[in-house]
Amino acid sequence: MSTQAARFESIIGWHHIPTSASFSSPGRVVCTINRVPLMMSRDIDYERTPWHSLNDNAPPIEFKMEAWEGPIDTGEVPEDGSSFDVIVVGGGPSGSAAASYHAMNGCKVLLIEKEVWPRDKVCGDAVGGKSLSHVKELGVKEMVEKTPHFMVDSIVFGSANGNTVKVMLPQDEFEKKMAGYSLPRKQFDYMMFKRATEIVTEAGGSVIQGFDVKEVLEEGGKITGISGGFGGRSSDSPTLSFTSSLTIGAAGYRCPVATKLVEGIHGEPMRDDDHYCGGYREYWEGVGGFEGNQGPIEIHFIEGVIPGYFWLFPVQEGVVNVGIGMVISEQRKQTGASKSLKKKQRWVIENHPVFKERFKDAKIVDGSQKGWQLPFGSPRKNPPSFQPRRTAGAGVMCVGDAASLVDPFSGEGIGNGLLSAKMSSMHFDKDAHAEGFPEEQAIEYMTELWDTLGKELTNSHRLQKVVKWKRLMNWFVGKSSRKKEMGDMLTGMIADKEAQKALWSPWFLFKTILLP
Ligand SMILES: Cc1cc2nc3c(=O)[nH]c(=O)nc-3n(C[C@H](O)[C@H](O)[C@H](O)COP(=O)(O)OP(=O)(O)OC[C@H]3O[C@@H](n4cnc5c(N)ncnc54)[C@H](O)[C@@H]3O)c2cc1C
Repeated sequence: MSTQAARFESIIGWHHIPTSASFSSPGRVVCTINRVPLMMSRDIDYERTPWHSLNDNAPPIEFKMEAWEGPIDTGEVPEDGSSFDVIVVGGGPSGSAAASYHAMNGCKVLLIEKEVWPRDKVCGDAVGGKSLSHVKELGVKEMVEKTPHFMVDSIVFGSANGNTVKVMLPQDEFEKKMAGYSLPRKQFDYMMFKRATEIVTEAGGSVIQGFDVKEVLEEGGKITGISGGFGGRSSDSPTLSFTSSLTIGAAGYRCPVATKLVEGIHGEPMRDDDHYCGGYREYWEGVGGFEGNQGPIEIHFIEGVIPGYFWLFPVQEGVVNVGIGMVISEQRKQTGASKSLKKKQRWVIENHPVFKERFKDAKIVDGSQKGWQLPFGSPRKNPPSFQPRRTAGAGVMCVGDAASLVDPFSGEGIGNGLLSAKMSSMHFDKDAHAEGFPEEQAIEYMTELWDTLGKELTNSHRLQKVVKWKRLMNWFVGKSSRKKEMGDMLTGMIADKEAQKALWSPWFLFKTILLP
């Protein structure tokens, strides 16, 4: 195995991680999760940084932690029946950030994750500029920079006729290291969760992993906590319940808290196939056209894949995240082998004139073939209540994928996940809401969320529709590669979502696109 392959093996670690749990009950519950580490763990210095020093004016944080593969010590499991200000269900980036932000506000938080770290998550692995401000604020950016990652300086867009345009990310953002990174989610999420564990426990809260939330507790339409157990649905471990003034749903697109809120309490639809996207991902080594650990990520709207798109995102030197995404309702219209994103991807890699050449010496990372779904934040046609759908109620707020906030053009969901996590912390006051997070405040959260993200999500939705028109894309990409203003416009659109508005201004379109 090449050094690169060996290194990557240690990132991915696909094998099943045996876990077991021991309990002593009743009264105090003691749980030990025994894990068999699969990889050689480098030296970890678990020295902690006080969470209250985390702001932009604070002196630089000294991180000695370089390892991100080993187990995370989350401490003791709280007693059955314990009460918290905030319970966060799901320890992905949105949940880790929500737990951190609420703990930084002085709340006693319980953060619960179903998996045991380190765990994989199917994604394109790009962590954009919007995410990085939160990643920095939470003290995770320096950790990321100390682990292998790819620095994104540009995005290549390709159209069906083979035209490509390279859109540079703003130079000043790149120089400040705020433009964007890509790195395996297994690695990124580990650092977010580890930091959240430090922040939450130092503020007097608790963190549990390997705990599956199976039931969301409700009293007269108000969510009051959760119950669940260790070891997955079929496990016979004892059920533990915890209560809180606020429960945050952060468990991704099938979040039990969001499902309870949206379908259970309000009888509204949780999913909409016109706004959910299927995604398929593989990791490859040795793909042609990628050198070093800095450069472009690539998105291609190619024949045979449109109305979906094909991406190539390097995640570190020599390793590329390769995938395909397509809106589920469009996927259903496909016939035969085209219905399968996996088969579509195989077809592109083996038969497309450009990509078969680039993949001729490449090798797939075994076990990396996985699919997942992206709940888009595009506006629904006739929403029964709030846009993109109901995300909060009495006793509850949802964040990230649980709130259906993925950008429908770029597929980026981490940024809005982190933003919604922070926003949720600004709407909760542990003293004023001690008797339960009130419905009126939930409405304010939903209103602010859509006021903040509605325009960009709507613009991205329009763009997502436009890229399906092959001829238009051929022409647009061709022209963008020749005309500087169009390249600049694309840069603006990607780096600054506000600039997307310009795309729908008739005068701007006339002067930029139609004039020679
Ligand atoms: C193929 C694909 C490509 C993508 N590419 C990108 C990209 O390049 N950049 C980008 O920004 N976004 C991308 N996204 C979107 C991105 O992955 C999500 O928006 C992001 O993961 C949302 O984070 P989250 O924390 O809200 O949810 P998740 O990351 O899904 O985390 C949810 C967590 O909750 C846990 N959980 C689930 N159920 C329970 C339960 N019952 N009890 C306890 N815990 C539970 C899960 O184990 C998980 O750890 C992509 C998505 C896909 C599918």
